[in-house]
Amino acid sequence: MSRLKDRIIKRIKSEGPITVAEFMTLCLLDPTDGYYPTRDPLGSDGDFITAPEISQMFGEVLGLWALQSWIDLGRPDKIHLVELGPGRGIMMSDMLRSAKLDQDFLSAVNIILIEASAALEAVQGKTLASASAPVSWIKDLSELPDGAAIIVANEFLDCLPIRQFIQNDPFAGRAGWHERMVVLEDDQLRFGKSPLPISDTLQAALPNGQADAKTDDLIEVCPANAQILDQLKARFKQFPGRALFIDYGPDMTEFGDSLQALKRHEKVGVFSDPGNTDLTARVDFDALRQIAKEIALDTTNIVTQSEFLSKIGIEVRAVALSRGNSDAKAKIARQLDRLMSADQMGTLFKAISFQSDGLPVPLGFTRIE
Ligand code: SAH
Repeated sequence: MSRLKDRIIKRIKSEGPITVAEFMTLCLLDPTDGYYPTRDPLGSDGDFITAPEISQMFGEVLGLWALQSWIDLGRPDKIHLVELGPGRGIMMSDMLRSAKLDQDFLSAVNIILIEASAALEAVQGKTLASASAPVSWIKDLSELPDGAAIIVANEFLDCLPIRQFIQNDPFAGRAGWHERMVVLEDDQLRFGKSPLPISDTLQAALPNGQADAKTDDLIEVCPANAQILDQLKARFKQFPGRALFIDYGPDMTEFGDSLQALKRHEKVGVFSDPGNTDLTARVDFDALRQIAKEIALDTTNIVTQSEFLSKIGIEVRAVALSRGNSDAKAKIARQLDRLMSADQMGTLFKAISFQSDGLPVPLGFTRIE
């Protein structure tokens, strides 16, 4: 049994059941036994692979997106280029390659990385050791220094802890919703349900889609989403900026348990090896958009990854990279297919952007909602 599993069992024994969010936080971020702080999980030898790890083209076209964003922001002399959850730092390093297209942009850039894992921070430091812009790390968006900012995040929101709620009785309204908990049964970790209905505050945090729930439907809420959007709203009131999130998830709230554990690219049981498996949940893009609207934060429409990457020029980049190199051509075509096709990442993954008031529609999107 993993040390973390043992610790979680002891804790539930002495303090009672924990929420799914508490379980996820322990598994992913516990400083001594958590998943991210103790390893580099990415790549083909790791547990999962992400778009920047599949192809350099992903970060390169995001670099163009950032460049255009800097132009939209009025070409400020200084711009914080911020990345949330930068993994191995590959996306940022690819972004900087295309940032070189405009020396004024490059010399304005100050890179700030927000990373919870000391192990990955060290890898990012190596990847970006010869970056053509200064690099520093902070722990949280609230530590971001003053000034204009462009914020990017790929597969960051999906590892933020979610809470899950089950509808027992749709006719009972709020009283019908009960929180799904991690409990002990015969000394084994299992899912259970709180006997108490949820509070008014929690019910207010459920996405609008909750109204259609039938008996036993499960709905997920990621409290950190609202927190991040609040931080962006507060920041963009003071300083101009734009943020981009790419992740997997639906554009309309869906019912059902999406918590999944991955080990060596295979799905495994959520309780099989806590702390040693990656844990993620789909991102509810519709909920993000709703929250943004509620707090009057400018939000774009939600677009699929394939639409977004296509609009920002990934096919053009693929042609340029393949030209005159027939060996690379087949490889590049395969990479493009993984990022773009509907049966790979193309439609499951979505993009959304938030920004300060008065800016044009960001590249890759069609409207501000
Ligand atoms: N963006 C990268 C890595 C995705 S994995 C890529 O696309 O390849 C998720 C990343 O988020 C890791 O770097 C992980 O350590 C980091 N992370 C997870 N939870 C975090 C938190 N609460 N705060 C900051 N970083 C976090």
